[in-house]
Amino acid sequence: MKNSSKTFLSINFGCRVNSAETNQWSQILINQNYIPTKTNPDIILINTCSITKKGDLESLGKVRSLHQKYPKTKIYVTGCANLEKLKNIPNVFIYQNNQKEELLKDLKSSYTPKIKDKFSHTHRFLLKIQSGCTQFCSYCIVPFKRSQLWSLKIKDAVNTVNSAVKNGYQEIIITGVNLDQYEYDFSDLIKNILEQTDIKLISFGSIPLNCINKKFIELFKKYPDRISNFLHIPIQSGSDKILKLMNRPYDSKKIINTFNKLKKLPLSFGTDIIVGFPTESDQDFKKTLNLCQNIGFSKIHCFRYSSRPNTKAKIIHDTNSKISKEILKSRSQQIRNLV
Ligand code: SF4
Repeated sequence: MKNSSKTFLSINFGCRVNSAETNQWSQILINQNYIPTKTNPDIILINTCSITKKGDLESLGKVRSLHQKYPKTKIYVTGCANLEKLKNIPNVFIYQNNQKEELLKDLKSSYTPKIKDKFSHTHRFLLKIQSGCTQFCSYCIVPFKRSQLWSLKIKDAVNTVNSAVKNGYQEIIITGVNLDQYEYDFSDLIKNILEQTDIKLISFGSIPLNCINKKFIELFKKYPDRISNFLHIPIQSGSDKILKLMNRPYDSKKIINTFNKLKKLPLSFGTDIIVGFPTESDQDFKKTLNLCQNIGFSKIHCFRYSSRPNTKAKIIHDTNSKISKEILKSRSQQIRNLV
């Protein structure tokens, strides 16, 4: 990207990781004397999302509408959406995710308050410590798009948090594509941040079940006021049959054991649930419902299963009888009613 223009517009779709990366990308431009703008930008950055079909359509639609509005403006597009579909549009340049990782690697986790995003406010610093995923949950498209793993070293995380504190931030939100694949010891990372910085509060975007171990729980006991008392832990299902088909790295026993330990602390919990995963029977769904009820989540993001291209779940979906729309609706309603 040449520094021939003066203003830029950055647009983000999707998760906190995308948001942190859009912000970092914007920081690169700000370092090159570009100024953020909302109208008539000289260049546009769009970070897309493809976690659902809807996200994909919205992201690609935005690229097309901005191209129509500003046909002469260079539009740089990255992220998880099906970018192949944009290949022949003039002035639209595609950065595959791995190219984006390369671009952002050197910046570590610098984050600019000049770019507001929907996940962060001026006093909350989005700390991206990991990206990429090779877990291949059977319904998920992310590993096809972001297979390159990257982790922020503990000492770099501590330095980044110290400079965030210097810049007035009071809270950090730790985020990553799959924190279960954080290369270093996750509990040690939190411990070092708590011990070596004055950050008032550490929160988590979403935290995988497998990150929660004895060491992590001890930190809550030692620093009850400096770690958020809300944890969003995606479990997706309570049926072992479905968890196995989903290729999730735990079973219902592990979910129950982990929450039994966590519930001894003054914490509240959120989760993600997918209803209508291919072959989910009434009995499977009941297990999920009962598990959610027993844990007592205060927040549940309930998604109806949506088939994504190339995934194993799509094959299961295409080769089995479909779950009707009525059943899908009723199941998601029952989950929603719990909270
Ligand atoms: S852990 Fe599973 S759901 Fe999360 S990004 Fe990786 S494959 Fe997708």
